[in-house]
Amino acid sequence: MPELPEVEVTRQRIAPFLVGRRIQSVRTTADSYLFLTPPAKLRRRLTGRTVSAVQRRGKYLLATLDDASCLLVHLGMTGQFFSAGASSVRLLSATARAALAPQQQVDFRPDVHTHLRLAFEDGGAEVYLRDVRKFGKLLLLARGESDPRIERLGVDALEIRGTELFRVARGRKVAIKNLLLDQSVVAGVGNIYADEALFLAGVRPTRRAQRVTRRECDAIALVIQRVLNRSIETGGSSISDFIAPDGSDGHYQDERHVYARTGEACHTCGAKIKRIVIGQRGTHYCPRCQS
Ligand SMILES: [Zn+2]
Repeated sequence: MPELPEVEVTRQRIAPFLVGRRIQSVRTTADSYLFLTPPAKLRRRLTGRTVSAVQRRGKYLLATLDDASCLLVHLGMTGQFFSAGASSVRLLSATARAALAPQQQVDFRPDVHTHLRLAFEDGGAEVYLRDVRKFGKLLLLARGESDPRIERLGVDALEIRGTELFRVARGRKVAIKNLLLDQSVVAGVGNIYADEALFLAGVRPTRRAQRVTRRECDAIALVIQRVLNRSIETGGSSISDFIAPDGSDGHYQDERHVYARTGEACHTCGAKIKRIVIGQRGTHYCPRCQS
């Protein structure tokens, strides 16, 4: 599932394909829960507009248009936002993927999962939003309009401070992992990076937030930023569907310490990494390094 680094990598690399280009035509799939703005309205409003900037808030992308409206894009679980010419086995169905040798790559052709297709007046590369499971979101905000999804976001994970984390953790009985996943507290951290950050901070994910010390909050805030920045540098994590807008894979998954390493040896102490479920999310930690 795309978290802050994957969304930021998408932002950095899709921006050159969007900014300054006038949209000539918009194609969508039929209405579905992915469209918070009905597809017909989206097609009408986007046509003829020029994208002026692409920003990120938490795990949301915000493409501002020249009429000051704003297209909000969320990648959900399997969203892929990329340009024509991208090629990746992750753009194929699971069955097609399984039938191909790993090194085989195929140029992408828009398919039934390509919910948004933008063509530009300059005749250059089209831009696609593809989402197999459709947990992503598309919403067009009119000039000056906002949305609770954005308004209720907490401090961006790249800017979280230990003091702030410690303040919100006071009196909270929830597991520290759940607190980190709460987008109204820290925006952008998801399952992978919460597990990784808690490992690096030496804090067990099940610990009640109110039992995490000030020093530990400082450590958690620091490693969250370190882990996220490192992941952005390496292109994010491509564990299931994530690809960068040029079709390339991220590489952060190769540096994971605990996430999805159940039963494997801890890089620090050699103990077996454990997997438990917290708040319905698979959670990974080292029983020796994290207390
Ligand atoms: Zn360990």
